[in-house]
Parts: sequence; structure tokens; C-alpha cells
Amino acid sequence: GGMGTDGDHVAFYSQDMNQGMQERMRIETGLRAALGNGELLLHYQPKFCIENGKIIGAEALVRWRHPVRGLVPPADFIPLAEATGLVVQVGEWVLEAACAQARQWKDAGLPPIRLAVNVSAREFTASLPGRVQDTLERYGLEPTWLELEITESTLMHNIDRVIGIMDRITAIGVTLSLDDFGTGYSSLSYLKRFPIDTLKIDRSFTIGLPSDANDCAIANTIISIAQQLKHKVIAEGVETVEQLAFLKNSGCDEVQGYLFAKPLEAAAFEEALRANWAPGHAHRAA
Ligand code: C2E
Ligand code: MG
Ligand code: MG
Ligand code: MG
Repeated sequence: GGMGTDGDHVAFYSQDMNQGMQERMRIETGLRAALGNGELLLHYQPKFCIENGKIIGAEALVRWRHPVRGLVPPADFIPLAEATGLVVQVGEWVLEAACAQARQWKDAGLPPIRLAVNVSAREFTASLPGRVQDTLERYGLEPTWLELEITESTLMHNIDRVIGIMDRITAIGVTLSLDDFGTGYSSLSYLKRFPIDTLKIDRSFTIGLPSDANDCAIANTIISIAQQLKHKVIAEGVETVEQLAFLKNSGCDEVQGYLFAKPLEAAAFEEALRANWAPGHAHRAA
């Protein structure tokens, strides 16, 4: 008997699945090689003080310079790396590369900044604090150079264990920020127990400011929670002067977004940092 429509559909579907799996395996094999090949690199997106417009830090964001595909954004390989566990090795590479870069900037006499590294839930293990401390020591960096950005997904399992790891990290003097805040499922009753320094307002909320009343309410609520809990608050994804004005008026401390700068190559970030701190330089956030 011939195949019915359903049969064709199933055959087509499983071929799709097969192609999807082959694609995933190609990415995984490629990424494993990329880790040793020097194909990964970091871009640096400046973070600004909303009050005086000065660059106070940067977020290190990983990219993969693929020989065929060109510059691959993290959205195209981090989720897979998280699923396979390879994100642990990627994270090790990122921390090492960020600290090496910070050391170069320190040696070049640039103003000290706080360099933020994104850490996946799977990296947030008992060995992380020791690795962070060891890396800072090897590069001769004060812990105030480093910040770790974690997301609510990190906080979802075994909260006491997670808080223990957080406490060990902050004991070193490294700060923690809660990325994409409000998009996950973290409970407010736990929030007060986390030794975090900064809440990051997710871009999905910043985007509707100031025209969307719900986004305005959410942004104001996050800022208010941060203030009550004595945390700093930064808005990501700031693209317009109207968004900036709203955030400044609402008491947000820091901003990050395309209005000021996209993630930059190291040399371009260094240039921005020098220019921003030059005497007399007035930034538009000021
Ligand atoms: P994230 O940590 O929330 O980083 C912010 C993302 O928003 C970055 O995308 C940044 O380029 C983008 N962005 C910043 N300002 C604006 C803006 O004004 N408009 C728009 N449209 N986008 C803006 P990117 O670099 O593609 O990174 C995406 C995500 O990949 C990050 O989200 C983070 O979750 C993950 N990621 C990046 N690097 C790493 C890493 O080293 N380790 C881990 N585990 N995850 C990483
Ligand atoms: Mg981040
Ligand atoms: Mg974020
Ligand atoms: Mg985000």
C-alpha cells in the first residue's frame, strides 16, 4: 500500500527532526573545536551612570567567528551549549578572556571599570567561586573589576545551595547582578535573601517606555523594589532619548543600550572609555 497524507507528513517531519539533530551535532562539534581554535571572542557593551553619563562598566558578550558562517551571535549557540553542558567550557573561556582583557586595560592605565560576565545556570556550581578567585589572582585583578550576571533560571533549583554559592562569590568581593529581571519565575520572598548588587530591567520592558502603561508600571516597580532592597538598578536595551528620560525621572541608576553603544570590539570599547573619561567630555546621558 502507498503512503497516505499522514504517512507523508510523518516521514517529512522525521526527516526535519533528523536534519535538526544533524545541525545540532554540527554546531556542537564546531563549538568544541572553536574553544581551542581561537574562534570565540568577546564584544563589550558599555554601561553608563545615568546621572553623569560616564562609562562605569561593560558587559562582555561572546561571539563565535565561524570560518564559514561569519560572526555567529550567542543566541545561535548558547542555548545549544546550555543543553549539552558545553556552556561550562564556554563560560570558562569567557571568564578567562574577560579577565585577560581587564588586565590589559588596567596595565594601559584606563579608569577601572566593572566587567560583567554572563553565567549560565549550569555553570553556577560549587566550583565556580574558587575558579573566579583563582582567575582574578592569576591576572592580578581586584575583585571589583568583575561582576557576574545571572538569570532567574539559576535561582530556580535548590535555593539554599544557590545562595551558598552566591555568598562565597560576594565574599571574594565580586558583585552579582540579576539579568533579565522579571522575565523568569523567581519569587519575591527569595529575592530578599539573594546577596545581589544590581537588578537588570529586561529589554522587553524597556522597549515599551514611555508609551506602554504596563511597561512603565513594571519598570517603576522594579526600580522601587531595587531601591527598597538597597540594590542598584540598570535598564538594558535603551534605544531612545524618551526611554532614557523616563528611566532618569524614575530613579534608575544605570543604562545600557544602542542609544549609547552597541557591543564593541575591545579596541573600540577602549577608545570609547578613554574619550568618555577625557576632561570636558559631556555625554548625552548627562
Ligand atoms: P543578555 O545578557 O540579556 O545581553 C543583552 C543582549 O541585548 C545582548 O545581545 C546585547 O547586544 C543586546 N542589546 C543591548 N542593548 C540593546 C539595544 O539597545 N537593542 C537591542 N535590540 N539589543 C540590545 P547578544 O550579545 O546577542 O547576547 C544575547 C544573549 O546571549 C545575552 O543576553 C546572554 O543571555 C547570552 N550571552 C551572551 N554572551 C554570553 C556568555 O558569555 N555566556 C553566557 N552564558 N551567555 C551569554
Ligand atoms: Mg547579560
Ligand atoms: Mg540582560
Ligand atoms: Mg535580556
